[in-house]
This record gives sequence, C-alpha cells and structure tokens, in this order.
Amino acid sequence: MDDCLFCKIGEKKIPSKLVYEDADVFAFEDISPQAPSHVLICPRKHVVSLTDATAEDAAMLGKLQLVAAKLAVKRQLTAGYRTVVNNGRGAGQSVFHLHLHLLGGLDLRWPPG
Ligand code: 5GP
Ligand code: ZN
Repeated sequence: MDDCLFCKIGEKKIPSKLVYEDADVFAFEDISPQAPSHVLICPRKHVVSLTDATAEDAAMLGKLQLVAAKLAVKRQLTAGYRTVVNNGRGAGQSVFHLHLHLLGGLDLRWPPG
C-alpha cells in the first residue's frame, strides 16, 4: 500500500523506534504511549483490520500475539500486560493497517472503557 503510515514505517520510509522485526512482522514504540510500555506490532502484509483478515492470515495473527509475549518478557512486564486490537472507528482504530497494541508497566483496569 503506497499511502499507508504503517507500511511506510515497516519499509523504514518513515522513522520509528523499531523494537523487533522479521520477515513477517515488525514492532515499534507508539508515538503517543498510553502506558509506560506501549508497542505496536504489525504484519508486513497490509491488512486493513481484523475484519479484513482471512484464513490465510491465521499464522500471521498468531505470530502477532507470540511476538507480543516475547517482547513482554524482554521488557520485563512481569506484573502483567495486555494485547489489544482496536477494530473499526467505534473501537478507536485510527490507523487502518492491522496492529496489535502491547501495553504494560502499570496497573491495567478491567473492564476497559
Ligand atoms: P489505533 O488507534 O489505530 O488502535 O492505534 C494507532 C496507534 O498508532 C495510536 O496509538 C497512535 O499513537 C499510533 N501512531 C499514530 N501515528 C504514529 C506514528 O507516526 N508513529 C508511531 N510510532 N505511532 C503512531
Ligand atoms: Zn499498510
């Protein structure tokens, strides 16, 4: 996708604080962190939202979670952490390239707002 912020971040056309990358997935610090540790984990494939994912994307979707778990260990989020996908504008999605938020480093409340 030519005009996608997260595709451009993945291609390093726009700078970010990259914390992980491999052939399928990349992860970087959120520019406006909502927790002391707030990372976004994205597929390299441009998928607009969870709703747009298909059976072909099953392995990628699992990988987003597994990378989050690895990063949580690396970032010493021992007290707990949360992974979140905001799906659609009504749920707060503002960038339309699928991404998993990894949030930690504070007491996370439940239920979320
Ligand atoms: P969403 O609201 O779609 O679930 O999450 C999008 C996230 O992307 C937000 O938390 C927002 O702070 C982050 N974000 C938006 N623009 C940029 C950017 O240019 N760089 C980085 N690192 N994060 C961004
Ligand atoms: Zn994209």
